[in-house]
Amino acid sequence: MLLSVQHINKKYKQEQVLSDVNLTIEAKHTLSVLGKSGCGKTTLLKILAGIEVQDKGTIILNNINIDALPPNQRKIVYMSQEPLLFPHLTVFENIAFGLRIRKEKNDIINTRADELIEALGLTAHRLKMPEQLSGGQKQRVNFGRALIINPPLLLLDEPFGNLDTQTRAEMQLLFKEIATQFSSSAIFVTHDIKEALIMGDSVGYMKEGSLKTYADKQSFITDSDTGVQQELAFWKNL
Ligand code: ADP
Repeated sequence: MLLSVQHINKKYKQEQVLSDVNLTIEAKHTLSVLGKSGCGKTTLLKILAGIEVQDKGTIILNNINIDALPPNQRKIVYMSQEPLLFPHLTVFENIAFGLRIRKEKNDIINTRADELIEALGLTAHRLKMPEQLSGGQKQRVNFGRALIINPPLLLLDEPFGNLDTQTRAEMQLLFKEIATQFSSSAIFVTHDIKEALIMGDSVGYMKEGSLKTYADKQSFITDSDTGVQQELAFWKNL
């Protein structure tokens, strides 16, 4: 098992934002977490990344308790809707950055960055600056920046939320391919039912700070809480 999250609780002042959250992820798997705005998804990801601290509970990554580790030592990458790129660096240098600051050898940096640039379909944009890229291309560069350091876990917070429907669908497929190619493990947070089903090897549903995980996608689909049944009824009634 790659990640085991046990009994996480978090309050902001009087507001209980997370209540006894438990989850596990196997290596090379993606867990989708579906939930409405404000249910606590981002807070959970920030706690896993070490940006926020839980009041109670334990996080075990690769059999090691990481509760006391600062974010940079966890190496878990948190990615939000807005790609955070360096405006003054090219696509290549943005992607290479994580290895440059680790003082990796140039030939290793070049090989690794170009491998990602190709896999992400960015070859034609290699020397462009971020301002010359579309939203989807920026998010591809963001993935490259994250993946170059081989993070044990990617935390994806509605990463395609700002993209149009077609680009979003393309990015979903691309992420699935990349995750397989680079053996990535991820938690993918979304409020979109279809996206949760497409992206996750397994799926969870968060409501008011409580996370329900499902043995398989079928039990997620048949659970009346998740909204899948209402969605299906809508299409049938058209
Ligand atoms: P989601 O990602 O599902 O939209 P969040 O985790 O961002 O939800 O927020 C969950 C709840 O916690 C919300 O009610 C939000 O207002 C509250 N919250 C989030 N961050 C803070 C903070 N730093 N201080 C106080 N309340 C917060």
